[in-house]
Amino acid sequence: MSRAVLAAVALLASCARPATSTPPQRTTTYDVVASGDGDTLTIEARLPTGAANELGVSEHCEAFVRDVEIDGAPVSPRAASWPAPACADGCVVRYRYLLRDAARALDDPELAATRGDARLSPPSAWLLRPRAADARGSFELSVRTSGGLTFESGIFPAEAGRYRASFADLAGAPFAGFGPWRTRRSRLDGGELVVSIAGEYALSDHEISGWIDRAARMVSAHYGGFPVRRAWIAVVPADGDGIFGRTLGNGGASVLLDWGRATTLAARDDDWVVVHELVHLALPSLAVRHRWLEEGLSTYVEPLVRLRAGVITRETLWRELSRGLPQGLPQPGDRGLDETPTWGRTYWGGALFCLMADLEIRARSGQSATLRDALRGIVAAGGDVSQRWSIDETLGEGDRATGTTALRELYDAWAHAPVHVDLPRLFAELGVSVRGERVSFDEAAPRAHLRRQLEAP
Ligand SMILES: [Zn+2]
Repeated sequence: MSRAVLAAVALLASCARPATSTPPQRTTTYDVVASGDGDTLTIEARLPTGAANELGVSEHCEAFVRDVEIDGAPVSPRAASWPAPACADGCVVRYRYLLRDAARALDDPELAATRGDARLSPPSAWLLRPRAADARGSFELSVRTSGGLTFESGIFPAEAGRYRASFADLAGAPFAGFGPWRTRRSRLDGGELVVSIAGEYALSDHEISGWIDRAARMVSAHYGGFPVRRAWIAVVPADGDGIFGRTLGNGGASVLLDWGRATTLAARDDDWVVVHELVHLALPSLAVRHRWLEEGLSTYVEPLVRLRAGVITRETLWRELSRGLPQGLPQPGDRGLDETPTWGRTYWGGALFCLMADLEIRARSGQSATLRDALRGIVAAGGDVSQRWSIDETLGEGDRATGTTALRELYDAWAHAPVHVDLPRLFAELGVSVRGERVSFDEAAPRAHLRRQLEAP
């Protein structure tokens, strides 16, 4: 199974506005009414003064916008935008969005897709809004559904039935969807877990949401609390008996799980994907070139979370690391982690960085601090997946929490140059020997104490 993908994010520029005697109302409100079958959205937007010259939706989604009216006058699109000079003093925009057609044509949950009886589509696909150069301020969204249909989203809700986020968050915003969702909410230490299931499976809803709940509790235990204030987990049907996941943050937190209809209890109990995705919640969204840190961290932390929860043994941990880490070593032509976005360097190169950082922090702090302390420090400073942070902020908070500069120094060395690690020697020093399925430990090895500490709960 291929490792999951955290979506690329792009920053939207904002522009300054001269002061006026009355401060401009900067919040755009959207009232969305979904048809009973979720095929069509009818949308009314109220844009504030000075909002826009041109309106648009995410790229590839323009073809499904219909019947745009600004203050009651029809407006035709020009290229992929709708001219909106009338909005200089604020305006009301009404239009329809053909969601079923978009899902059929695009078939991408980050734009529009139908999975089982649910229709996935984030608001960025269907909210007509100021074009990038004008994008500023925030918006509020209310969605009305009827029949058995509900709207669920990873965007943080503002108040009952309304969501609030900034326009800048819409690039790479959380998943959202319309469907006959069967939703279960649970309180975890420091946050709310919302699990919505659509479709039919070999497992019961209880068996599916119970597993997600358990994984969330394991991750909470590792981080000393649930890392975000609310996370929406959408479960939609897929072929086969595997589980595949994707996480999106920015203004909220969401995980999309493509859950194989034929997944058995045994396959579920063997799953690592849900923990991997939930670990993504505990790191800010970084620029695309640092995706190796997002994926590497989830790849490294996931088996540690499962080991400490008693789900896997230390033999399994070291067997997986010994098979995976060699795939993260630099190959000929490598230009460092920030500049070599291959699968191996992203997942296992990132995981190797995290292992080396963990050992370095332990060594430098006289074994009083660990990578986990750095990660907890980042979350405690507000750095979860709903936020967009720079690499400097992220490493800085991590180092502050451990009282070292290990992350900064390791990043500076690894980001723009290929750094080779002698893995056989490292494993020998840690006292780990893996031969096929057999794993043995040498407690007299020079750094065996670091390994034991790493395995400890
Ligand atoms: Zn991932």
